[in-house]
Amino acid sequence: MNRTMLCMLPLLLGPAVSSIAGAAGPTDADLLATKGRGDWLNYGRTYDNQRFSPLTQIKPSNVKNLRPVWAAGLNSLDGLEATPIIHDGVLYVTGSHAHVFAFDAANGRRLWSWAPEEPEGLGTVLCCGPVNRGVAIYGDHVFVETLDAKLVALNKDTGAVAWEKVIADWQTGYSATGAPLVAKGKVIVGVAGGEYGVRGFIKAYDAVTGDEKWTSYTIPGAGEPGNDSWPGDTWKTGGGATWQTGAFDPALNLLYWGTSNPGPWTSDGRKGDNLWTASLLAIDADTGVIKWGYQYTPNDAWDYDGNNAPILADIKLDGKPVKAALQSNRNGFFYVLDRTNGRFLYATPTVDGINWTSGLDPVTGRPKVNEDKRPLSDGKTVMPIVPGLEGGTNWFPMAYNPDTRVAFVPTNTWAMSLKGYLPEDIQYEAGKVYMGVDYKMYRTGETVGRLRAFDVEKKKWLWEIPSPLPLFAGVLATKSGLVFTGDQLGFLYAADAKTGEVLWRFQTGSGLNASPVTYAIGGKQYVAILSGLGGDPSFYYSAPKGNTLWVFALEGLSTGKADAGEWKPDAIPEMLDPLPTR
Ligand code: CA
Repeated sequence: MNRTMLCMLPLLLGPAVSSIAGAAGPTDADLLATKGRGDWLNYGRTYDNQRFSPLTQIKPSNVKNLRPVWAAGLNSLDGLEATPIIHDGVLYVTGSHAHVFAFDAANGRRLWSWAPEEPEGLGTVLCCGPVNRGVAIYGDHVFVETLDAKLVALNKDTGAVAWEKVIADWQTGYSATGAPLVAKGKVIVGVAGGEYGVRGFIKAYDAVTGDEKWTSYTIPGAGEPGNDSWPGDTWKTGGGATWQTGAFDPALNLLYWGTSNPGPWTSDGRKGDNLWTASLLAIDADTGVIKWGYQYTPNDAWDYDGNNAPILADIKLDGKPVKAALQSNRNGFFYVLDRTNGRFLYATPTVDGINWTSGLDPVTGRPKVNEDKRPLSDGKTVMPIVPGLEGGTNWFPMAYNPDTRVAFVPTNTWAMSLKGYLPEDIQYEAGKVYMGVDYKMYRTGETVGRLRAFDVEKKKWLWEIPSPLPLFAGVLATKSGLVFTGDQLGFLYAADAKTGEVLWRFQTGSGLNASPVTYAIGGKQYVAILSGLGGDPSFYYSAPKGNTLWVFALEGLSTGKADAGEWKPDAIPEMLDPLPTR
């Protein structure tokens, strides 16, 4: 270790004693300069979404000594899918139903919690359970999106509501399940509802006042370029939801946001490409203007949502530097695009047996569709279709190591059947399911899930870790050469990033469909993940439900005070009333 490295340590490992709430919240500069820090300030840690931590205390040679140091229940038997945010010694996380919790990140003391009031009947607009993928933090506020499509700003120290805004009318089928993204003082949110005939959009709010700054519809309106990719009025109920968190490139001033399937799922009533559904959009962060779009699956008929955000990576292809956007899609392909202009560079299959297309055009990436695998509104069942609609890779975020240019990609190899309804049974009604299709997923072999490592410059798959069940957890990569993820059997595991050898496992008690993070406080590195089967993953596996936030650190490391677990009542208003004196 040289002198420079020694000087970097305090920054990487955080303050010696956490101030626990009350200090200033992160600024634009903090959110931009997260690369060298020991905290976790954005959904994907950094704006480029790499989920790569510079922390090196936990490494391949000692990860076997990782032990739980605290855990917490989150008041839920639903699926947990959130990524915790860690700032200034506080861990902010959501359970289900947009329930927000703040904990002392070193010892698990609960600082506050907040749950929204939900309107009756809300369950009818939730395709995939009452899930939530986490908060964002900026200045004095943490931000959460609610299932009834509101954006709520909470005081980061107390959980008190500072302001709330209606993003969309939930009764018309909109919902919100993603973690917001804060960029340049704006909170940027998307909406769910691709199965309900919504018209998707992305919206930006002033992070301090909550004033609306811009709205960018994913489907062009009448007279706008691309509207002619929809027959008649079909664009009005065409889907293109934006239910995941995007990425941001501050140098290009572009937000990158994925869009969902078109509605309804049957495609013969909306012939055309249906821009910009199942696409990646690059959006001017100041104005909301769409600078370019790239459509992964034109005229999608298979629910191949393109929502999971790309990882932004600067790589070399054929010796030339490229500002790339990497995305592993539900349609079974891993895409590498030029993020300055949306140009297709290459794609490679992530799963075997893809049969909805015979392949992608090598120049444009446009798929050549096998039309016998397209369900129609004729009451007939089409099967098997590979991959099934969950992908490929669904929402769970992959990770990327910029030192080695290797992406760590959770993939699932399986098939589905799709049975299209008759046209008279596919009628749009606001707030009702608008799919027009029945589906069923099937396994095609002993192994469904595979965590796969992919060298994006050499275009080469390096190793894989199989799982009998589909994978639904996100991935974390560290500079020390570890990869963390989890499976539906309940195991959180750490693998050697070079070889894929699993070096450590821990049974968390329920299925994992959230994403691991790592952070440091007082010279100690932690790893955290939510365990709790539910939502989509529970459609395919019936592991015990239940939920826990687990936090781990190396055995034998102590920071004194934080470990002492000094007991303080953390919720006085919820305790017994004191005995009246008279
Ligand atoms: Ca969908």
